[in-house]
Amino acid sequence: MTDTSKQQKHKQRQQKLKEKVDERIASAQQDKGLLLVITGNGKGKSTAGFGVVTRAVGHGMKAAVVQFIKGEWDCGERNLLAANGVEFHVMASGFTWETQNRDADIAHAKVAWQEAKRMLADESLQVVLLDELTYMVSYKYIELSEVIDALANRPADQHVVITGRACHRELIAMADTVSEVQSVKHAFDAGIKVQKGVDW
Ligand code: ATP
Ligand code: MG
Repeated sequence: MTDTSKQQKHKQRQQKLKEKVDERIASAQQDKGLLLVITGNGKGKSTAGFGVVTRAVGHGMKAAVVQFIKGEWDCGERNLLAANGVEFHVMASGFTWETQNRDADIAHAKVAWQEAKRMLADESLQVVLLDELTYMVSYKYIELSEVIDALANRPADQHVVITGRACHRELIAMADTVSEVQSVKHAFDAGIKVQKGVDW
């Protein structure tokens, strides 16, 4: 095949693709508050959630965040977003992997969930990020039915992002957009410690 005919073939293929995409764009006419789930074992779930909040704030939208697991380190996005009017609620003391006191963790989770529920009922909030909520549901610290009720009854135009590994199938079923981040490799496995600005 000559270079010109290759180019022509490529052009035709791209044109067909464009027509298909344009058709789909034209038929997507609905406006709706979305439920996004970002789950899986790979790195990038919370950063994607914070990316959505950042994007919304950049458009002048009002957003709020509940962090259900407080990291060992101060997170950079919290410093930036809180300074730009985003309300943050960080779960007290923080659930940890080597949890020592289940009752205290449950009590803290319930307090954080009350804050989340308030946000999910707040008409003025356009985006709510529930970072690491999935663990609270899988550990049964928060009732799945309560989460489903609060999400189902939220303002119709409010977007919600849920992050965390092993998201409950009912939340996945309820969501509009679900992404599973797969781990291909992670620097930590090569003995590299968490890096400021990348990991926290
Ligand atoms: P991030 O906050 O960087 O977007 P995440 O939300 O996808 O990560 P979490 O499970 O919440 O991941 O874990 C947060 C911390 O654990 C981060 O420091 C991240 O770099 C690290 N981490 C995430 N995935 C992996 C992995 N597959 N192996 C090792 N460490 C990981
Ligand atoms: Mg995370």
